[in-house]
Amino acid sequence: MVSQPKRSTPRPIVLTSHPAKFSKSIAIHWGEADPIKRGAIIGTLTTAAHRNVIGTHSGSYAVYRALAVASGKLDANHRADLTNTAPAALLHAHPAWSDPDKIVSLDPFGAIVGEVYRDLYEQGYDIKPTIAITKAHINMPELQDAIAKGRLQEDGEIMKKGGDLVVTKAAIEPVWYLPGLAKRLHVEESLLRRTLFEQTGGMFPELITRPDIKVFLPPIGGITVYIVGDPDAITDPNRSLTVRVHDECNGSDVFGSDICTCRPYLVHGIEECVQTAQQGGAGIIVYLRKEGRALGEVTKFLVYNARKRQEGGDRADAYFTRTECVAGVQDMRFQELMPDVLHWLGITRIDRFISMSDMKHDAVTRSGIEIVTRVPIPEELIPADAMVEIEAKKAAGYYTESEVLTEEALAEIKGRGLSD
Ligand SMILES: [Zn+2]
Repeated sequence: MVSQPKRSTPRPIVLTSHPAKFSKSIAIHWGEADPIKRGAIIGTLTTAAHRNVIGTHSGSYAVYRALAVASGKLDANHRADLTNTAPAALLHAHPAWSDPDKIVSLDPFGAIVGEVYRDLYEQGYDIKPTIAITKAHINMPELQDAIAKGRLQEDGEIMKKGGDLVVTKAAIEPVWYLPGLAKRLHVEESLLRRTLFEQTGGMFPELITRPDIKVFLPPIGGITVYIVGDPDAITDPNRSLTVRVHDECNGSDVFGSDICTCRPYLVHGIEECVQTAQQGGAGIIVYLRKEGRALGEVTKFLVYNARKRQEGGDRADAYFTRTECVAGVQDMRFQELMPDVLHWLGITRIDRFISMSDMKHDAVTRSGIEIVTRVPIPEELIPADAMVEIEAKKAAGYYTESEVLTEEALAEIKGRGLSD
């Protein structure tokens, strides 16, 4: 039997394309330093007249919310009770928050909307934080191994007994200021809006019909920031800062797949963060939900098969071309938007940047952040089947302190076959 939402009379469908419906919305002035003047981001689904954005909150999870409403499990009019949800740390505003060129893909005030827009909330505006900040202990077997080998020490404060690492962590949903995004990508805003509309199968008509609405909450994954050490050290020029910007790789990060260096590099980044924090500085891991170079896991697994089945097997010299064959591009991550989160944290200098990626490095430095030292992954941490990836990346110009192989030598670097 097909279950129907519990409703006595059918409701009319409210189309989102008519400006008169939006008369009570608050204007957004992106880049204003005063959050009241900047205007609250309101992606509510309960009062259409209050909406001042395209799309809604929760990123990709908005679709699950729809399922919950459709199946009658969630009241469509539910408004979040924000009691005791205020950030556990990181409350300072930074100059970049009011620079419309520095931050275009998140709301710098996203964590403090419950405080700064309290009056509006009490007037009935359904305002939701797009950033939440809390504290946690994390523990990973590799960190315990680093303690056993003497590379890390338990100090009782940053790293507690048993290898428990104390972190401050922030979850960030995407909030895109479309004119800023267009400028960052060097395209016309109208072309960006049209392409977003067309390439999502027409998911958001207001991208076309409401050029006056400039902010878009895209249904994509967000960012998690893990901070080790004193958050105040992040902006203190006299204290050191280590950063790894890590793009999600579920197969390796969580399940330990050995075809790439993602988890070993992530853990190495955390180890470097702990060392810097224990020396009085701070360490930051930025974790972005951009699985498989933002191509997704289906594409990624197709590429794995294509690599392993090609003539001569999985070879470093053909690593990038196999991705391009399947996906049309080698990489879809758009690191141009990645530095926004660093600016949100107030970062102006990174002492140790734990990455070999030129794209990440160049995006960060182009955005005005200084990088003092680049730290490649130590050779001993590279899994056997990941030699194909790492040598291909080094040959393609990724940062390394070791020798770059010739074309002939690259062809000799082979990974496992599908049946091995
Ligand atoms: Zn990986």
